[in-house]
Amino acid sequence: MGFLENTQKLIDEAAKIAQIPGDILARLQKPDKVLEFEVNGLPAWRVQHNNALGPYKGGIRFHPESSLEEVKALASLMTWKTSLMGLPYGGAKGAVRVDPRKLSEQELEEISRGYVQAIWKEIGPQKDVPAPDVGTNDKIMDWMVDEYAKLLEQSGEAAPAALLQARAGFTGKSLGKGGSQGREIATAYGGYIILREFLKLVPSLAWNKEQAKLGTILHERPTVAIQGFGNVGSNLAKLLFDSGFAILAISDSKGALFEEQGIDINKVIDVKEKTGIIDRAKCYAVSPHSEPCRRFDGEALLELPVDILIPAALEEQITGNNASKVGTRAVLEMANGPTTLEADKILAERGIEVLPDILANGGGVVGSYFEWVQSLEQKYWTKEEVLNKIAQKMSEAFAAVVETKKKYNTTWRTAAYIRAIARVAGAMKKAG
Ligand code: NAD
Repeated sequence: MGFLENTQKLIDEAAKIAQIPGDILARLQKPDKVLEFEVNGLPAWRVQHNNALGPYKGGIRFHPESSLEEVKALASLMTWKTSLMGLPYGGAKGAVRVDPRKLSEQELEEISRGYVQAIWKEIGPQKDVPAPDVGTNDKIMDWMVDEYAKLLEQSGEAAPAALLQARAGFTGKSLGKGGSQGREIATAYGGYIILREFLKLVPSLAWNKEQAKLGTILHERPTVAIQGFGNVGSNLAKLLFDSGFAILAISDSKGALFEEQGIDINKVIDVKEKTGIIDRAKCYAVSPHSEPCRRFDGEALLELPVDILIPAALEEQITGNNASKVGTRAVLEMANGPTTLEADKILAERGIEVLPDILANGGGVVGSYFEWVQSLEQKYWTKEEVLNKIAQKMSEAFAAVVETKKKYNTTWRTAAYIRAIARVAGAMKKAG
């Protein structure tokens, strides 16, 4: 079963419990609009899934394996995420099938601008607001804003108004070009808040005291393994490390590290900034007596008996093939769709708690929302103000899911979907 089918099944299941009428469910199962085009000869898409709650909202991914199916699934996830977070947004997603690491700076800029040229009439601050995702960043958003402002000017908009409108039409911009303080770490920070709330419900982590003995070390702090060390994975690793969690393993597409006493994340980040890879971090030892980080593989990371496993790379990483070997007792899904439906059922049977993507990684779109508000109203908030606002939204969403979970006696994921779908369906009913 593919990623899209997985997502549709989840919607079906939650809609049944939430008693969503069949005609509304049928509309929620397919996107409002699919834009399929080419940029520099490369396949590209923008999928607008649903806008019952507000303008479409969602990132643009540059990845060599992107497909229309994937973009449709991710656009649908955005609808549920923005709804669950209580934002006035719908859901969308975009992608170009390309490996950005193989492009020159000039090619990257051409593709970013070409993407906007293809869809500019379909986007805008009140219509559809793109953001970065895997393989895209603030620099790419800045090019896109610039291109969009040019196109608005060419269509007759005055220059200052065009720029203001363009800035409100994209989030994840650089700070100098209308970006928001805190946006860079918003997703990771949101995940951190969700984990903190979750740990308040299971304060002792008592379940894992026997398992905590890994090798020769007995950990008194919650132990963590993180798959993916990009924007989300590395920022969350740093937040957790700085607040006392023991990060025992991390991985990225090129390698993985395991250190039974806990990895010094600040050192790894430093090495990654200098060399581009986490692997070289094996050159340092955490204590004078310990071996330097040893090479181990990404599959082994999923099997480590840690308290919290954090997939923060790509979708479909925990599958029917490896779910029975997953060693953790709780999963914080920072990536979108990292667990297949088959794996989800196996984890539930094994009593492993899964904090789902639409809840755990919602901090990114909440941060985007606050950037959008600042751009629309030409306001400026400090990093602290933005992070406090994100924390508030995340805690509210968490409390809402806890309440729904209790009411329907279901998993975290189903509860999150019930909540999200009910809000969208309510808006659709009201709109007739
Ligand atoms: P990124 O491109 O910055 O990082 C992705 C990381 O995953 C990289 O370190 C890459 O090397 C690693 N990776 C890829 N394949 C891997 C594999 N097989 N094993 C281990 N690591 C692997 O992307 P990101 O922005 O950090 O996004 C990561 C995930 O979080 C994606 O699923 C994305 O959709 C989701 N997400 C991101 C945001 C955001 O604000 N950036 C918001 C919500 C959700």
